[in-house]
Amino acid sequence: FKIIIVYLQDQNCINIPVHPLMTKKTLLALLAFAIMNTSNAMAQEMTWSPTATRFSLWSPSADSVKVNIYAEGLGGNPLQTIILRKETTAEKWVGTLQGDYKGRFYTFQVKHKGTWLAENPGIDAKAVGVNGQRGAIIDMRETDPEGWAADRSPAFTGQKDAVIYEMHHRDFSIDPQSGIKNKGKFIALTEHGTHNADGLATGIDHLKELGITHVHLLPSYDYGSIDETTGNAYGGGGRVASTYNWGYDPVNYNTPEGSYSTDAYKPETRIREFKQMVMALHKAGIRVIMDVVYNHVFDLQRSSFERMAPGYFFRYNADGTPGHASGCGNETASETEKVREYMVESVAYWMREYHVDGFRFDLMGIHDIETMNLIRQRVLSIDPNAVIYGEGWAASSPLLPAEQLAMKANTARLGGIAAFGDEMRDGLRGGWSNNDEGAFIIGNGGNEESVKFGIVGAIAHPGVDFTKVNYSKEPWAAQPQEMISYVSCHDDMCLADRIKHTLTHKDGKADKQTRMRLQKLTETAVLTSQGVPFIWCGDEIMRDKKGVHNSFSSPDSINQIPWAQKTEYKEVFDYIARLVSMRKSHPAFRMGDADMVRRNLKFLPVKQQNVIAWKIDGREAGDTWSEIIIILNSNSKAVKQAVPKGRYNVVCSNGKADMNGLGEVNSSKVVVPGQTALIMYR
Ligand code: CA
Repeated sequence: FKIIIVYLQDQNCINIPVHPLMTKKTLLALLAFAIMNTSNAMAQEMTWSPTATRFSLWSPSADSVKVNIYAEGLGGNPLQTIILRKETTAEKWVGTLQGDYKGRFYTFQVKHKGTWLAENPGIDAKAVGVNGQRGAIIDMRETDPEGWAADRSPAFTGQKDAVIYEMHHRDFSIDPQSGIKNKGKFIALTEHGTHNADGLATGIDHLKELGITHVHLLPSYDYGSIDETTGNAYGGGGRVASTYNWGYDPVNYNTPEGSYSTDAYKPETRIREFKQMVMALHKAGIRVIMDVVYNHVFDLQRSSFERMAPGYFFRYNADGTPGHASGCGNETASETEKVREYMVESVAYWMREYHVDGFRFDLMGIHDIETMNLIRQRVLSIDPNAVIYGEGWAASSPLLPAEQLAMKANTARLGGIAAFGDEMRDGLRGGWSNNDEGAFIIGNGGNEESVKFGIVGAIAHPGVDFTKVNYSKEPWAAQPQEMISYVSCHDDMCLADRIKHTLTHKDGKADKQTRMRLQKLTETAVLTSQGVPFIWCGDEIMRDKKGVHNSFSSPDSINQIPWAQKTEYKEVFDYIARLVSMRKSHPAFRMGDADMVRRNLKFLPVKQQNVIAWKIDGREAGDTWSEIIIILNSNSKAVKQAVPKGRYNVVCSNGKADMNGLGEVNSSKVVVPGQTALIMYR
């Protein structure tokens, strides 16, 4: 026997055992295979080849480690068990099975302080059986759909140019009116030509019509709250069993969720179908962002992390109880070497294996700044135009000093990772914790500066009075594309519910025409912000959740996008789609440079509350529109607004938007009807 040692640039190395009778062809195949797998060699717990399957587990405190091999992903007894041996130079346990083990399943088991801990698939399982309880030995290349090698992300120039659409697989396709066959599945997004009863496009064709650049998928890694054998939710506790969950309960981070596949028992299926979905979106010109939830696991005691190295992966209080910053009973310790390495490798894996184009970090404020910066560097080294953002907060105080955390206030230290802008969100619709509280959009004066904070993208700007901003009294973004501009997402009431609820609370009524006007006005603020606009799925057709504030496990009747509403609210959809198109056609709306925004975006003096007016000189951004005027009026009555005297082309007025022009204004004063926006340019 001889050993070839292959050293690679990123400091990993692998050993290839070479038999004297091995042909050159086999040797080259092994070498190619090894190189393909080695960039993730540090974390790779199972490596299959046609001649051998190798296991490797990091477990510094183990007395002993074994691997159990099964015929099935669930049930049955082990076909065989192997004891791993400890590598002398590392805290790793390794072992190799000779022969072809493709199609088998495996679990690791660690003996800790004299006791065998429960079986688990490891933390790095790339393929799993039903419910993610066992790892699966498969040939990843066999999961590639036809044409996968040629799959390319659509051309994209950078974070400032993104228009993001957040969606849940089930919300998007489960309505019988969706016309989609594979309802609630990854491959729902591969179906073209689907429509509602009136022939209006649904599904992926709808996304193309809307014109968004990125789809942000709610958790799509393997999560724990849905029983993949039945499709029902776990832990009903006497409640009506729902088949629904958002999925913020991670089990296996590096494999797709089984309930979104057409066969959760076949490990290859969920992987192949995820790739089919990505490929279909890419072909439609849409990039893919994954919602990643590394801040906590579904169940600490039952997690592979805890069963591999008890006490290592999580933060603990002085009394030994786990931290609770996620609001879910545990918080991971991103500052430790192995969690940090795990997160960096995991996002890189989704990019390489699944061609994912960006990430949204759940409760990013729990993670430390250093880790987030390493992630950013790694992600951008794979794709310089990847989009990265997160929630710059936590559910409660993390067990790490505030100055080390990737909180919103520290955004400028994250080198370009964006945070959600709750100042603008709540300045528009009211605070998240009080459904009755209205703000700018229902004409409650005093919220103008919070909205303006979002219009400039959370950067320092002389036109914003920061003392009057609802939350941050100072800018927190260095560049405008470091702020996600939004008013509604999966959390809290969606926009249509919030408008209806707050209007009714204030006026005792909320008629349909008013609600439509306000929906359009609100999305105008989001889509003309210098931050990165973000739309919750269905807001463009005024989807509601029947007033439910937290619908994480509500039934489909609450969460589904009712596609009949595309007909009912066609004018809202057209308006929003045209604003998306206007934004994409005009760089003045997305300058991507704080100094350029400060030089070219000026707020105009206004005479009354609930009016925000600004002008943008688009020339420095390379725009053909040299002077753009934008006015938002949330008063129920029309206002007269002074503007620099001149002849303007109107492109958005009185609830209509059209880049080709809606007429001319030649004056130093314009009238903006109640609850509408005006956009015009010279
Ligand atoms: Ca699952």
